Amino acid sequence: MGILKYLHRCMEIVFDEIIQFFQLKPLLRKLDSDDYSWLMTLDGLTALLRPTLSFLLVFEVVVALVRKRYRHKHFVPQFLAYLFNRLMVSFVFIGSTAFWLGMFEPLRPFEVPFTWWGVVYALLVYELAVWVLHWASHKVRILWCVHATHHTSETMNIGVATSNFILEMAYLLLFRTLIPTLLGVTPPLLLVALAVDGLWVRFSHVSEETLPNGRLGILNQVLMTPSRHRVHHARNPLYLDQNFSNTHLFWDWVFGTLQREERGEKMEYGITRPVNHANFIDFYMGEWFALWRDVRKAPGLKNKLLYLVMPPGWSHAGDSKLAGDVRKDYLNRRGSVEKKAALVVGVGLLTLNTAAQA
Ligand SMILES: [Zn+2]
Ligand SMILES: [Zn+2]
Repeated sequence: MGILKYLHRCMEIVFDEIIQFFQLKPLLRKLDSDDYSWLMTLDGLTALLRPTLSFLLVFEVVVALVRKRYRHKHFVPQFLAYLFNRLMVSFVFIGSTAFWLGMFEPLRPFEVPFTWWGVVYALLVYELAVWVLHWASHKVRILWCVHATHHTSETMNIGVATSNFILEMAYLLLFRTLIPTLLGVTPPLLLVALAVDGLWVRFSHVSEETLPNGRLGILNQVLMTPSRHRVHHARNPLYLDQNFSNTHLFWDWVFGTLQREERGEKMEYGITRPVNHANFIDFYMGEWFALWRDVRKAPGLKNKLLYLVMPPGWSHAGDSKLAGDVRKDYLNRRGSVEKKAALVVGVGLLTLNTAAQA
């Protein structure tokens, strides 16, 4: 009897986790009532769209299997990262948005009203917080160690969206709540921005198998489409450290980090260091070990501390290889090749013209 009770409890936990994975809880709660007016609310729409994206991930796995392109390393480490984070969340306290909202409420200097322009303002300000934090996560080595888990995948699919280091959401939510609050955004507006951001950012990881083009037509000019976010995940020199926003492109345009997908430049996803995808520790936190190795070999306390705050690729020995320099070198080389090609074409046309006149 004891064993049966235990098995029953285990099955309940597994069932709960499946519901959790598919993010079905809010939808099931809403479906319980006979009133369907919730479908017209943002909360209701979010409850409906979240499970859709989870089922899209299952669809991606099925498509990969049917087309015989399924690779463990494209789905399993990302799923393990999700499971690991779920397990750890039970033990490690992560500040929820509600907690931070309560904490920062007295700091708001003015209040933006809940109007159409208030929503636009909230989306702009929230995205500013996203851009700043994301940029810092690529430029400060210790923050990069936290963020790199999201970049170790050598593919793109919906599973990559939730493949993060456990502590990342804790500090991201802190600043993504603080910055908009200091700029007058109220909790209802912030929740709208959070819902839009959460749904769109997950969708922007959709695989090339499911959505080969990913540009979404004219939307590619204003939104962080799957094509634009694929650029952010690529390690090609041209694409390094570009497209830091989640939903719209305004701040990348303002700060000069906007890059479109170029037809001749095939995406190579992942980080510049080779990652052993069969080793979950390397996939999940390999960058921490790389940082530890650099700190250990650095002479003096100043150099050791600099490794924590300087950008990835910085070296105390003077042989730094920063992402910005790699991209600049690539663009310079490409520029001079294009100039030479234009010169050759120009001389060719001139010769043909002279020959025709003669
Ligand atoms: Zn990133
Ligand atoms: Zn991503």
